[in-house]
Amino acid sequence: MNKTSSSWRLTYTGVALDRAAAVRSVAADVKALHTCDLARVLPVWNGNHLFEPNGVGAKAISVADVSTLSAATGDLIFLGLSDTTPWFALAIHAEEEPGDAQLAGVFEPLHPRVGSLDADQAAMLAYARGMVLWHANHLHCGRCGAPTESREGGHVRTCTNEDCGYRAFPRTDAAVITLVEHPDGKHCLLGRQSRWPDGMYSVVAGFVEPGESLEECVIREVKEETGIVVTDVQYQASQPWPFPSSLMLGFTAKASTTEFKPDDDELDDIRWVSRDELNDYGETSDDTPGPKLPNRHSIARMLIDTWRAEH
Ligand SMILES: [Zn+2]
Repeated sequence: MNKTSSSWRLTYTGVALDRAAAVRSVAADVKALHTCDLARVLPVWNGNHLFEPNGVGAKAISVADVSTLSAATGDLIFLGLSDTTPWFALAIHAEEEPGDAQLAGVFEPLHPRVGSLDADQAAMLAYARGMVLWHANHLHCGRCGAPTESREGGHVRTCTNEDCGYRAFPRTDAAVITLVEHPDGKHCLLGRQSRWPDGMYSVVAGFVEPGESLEECVIREVKEETGIVVTDVQYQASQPWPFPSSLMLGFTAKASTTEFKPDDDELDDIRWVSRDELNDYGETSDDTPGPKLPNRHSIARMLIDTWRAEH
């Protein structure tokens, strides 16, 4: 199955920036970039991103405009360089009301709007979002509880308690997502959770636990959620998923059993679906009733469409 997956550019991948780690480790260099006339800033507020007023296309602001957004903005987070243009993310405190009118833009959630973005914009916003959400969740030291401060352009948070000095680095949570093929090679395994959009079915996913390899996690998650035993676990591709902080690691696997006996009640419905039956599945954006496929911008959809196209 790996032969076709490499031809996809998954949404939120391919950030077109030099992350310039050597620059961000020097405080004076990062500060100098703040005053660069070219510098562009991507604001994030309450998990929402700044879009053009018509909601189409992301909107970046200048460093000079940061102060018009709010009086108590957080630290700028250095994302990297695009040629000579420095790019930053800006965390606006949740309790503030940024002045949309002054900015001639609107704050909107990313994923529902991703279809209006080109691939480079989507990747930039996902990167900015992942960094901002990580900062928001690491304001205090996980070791001693003292406040932390942003350092190295926002790529480290350091504990302010001198006796502790713990340094926390941006993290992503590894999650596996797996397309399971029936032993007959003609059906794949789909399930649905009650909290998903009406009618949506997807492949099995779950978080990697400590002391577990990715392949072991695939086998465990499929077994827990469906009762199906799988072998031949094969890595396919990965996708940043900053909602809030995951990295989705996509796999395929072969089922060696077919009867559903879930250990947990995570899935409301589980089914084997043939390639022909998949043709009757709609899009999550459709208002029509009936089963639907995951969003076209997800790795779940890539795994399903790649498998569907195989024969
Ligand atoms: Zn500490």
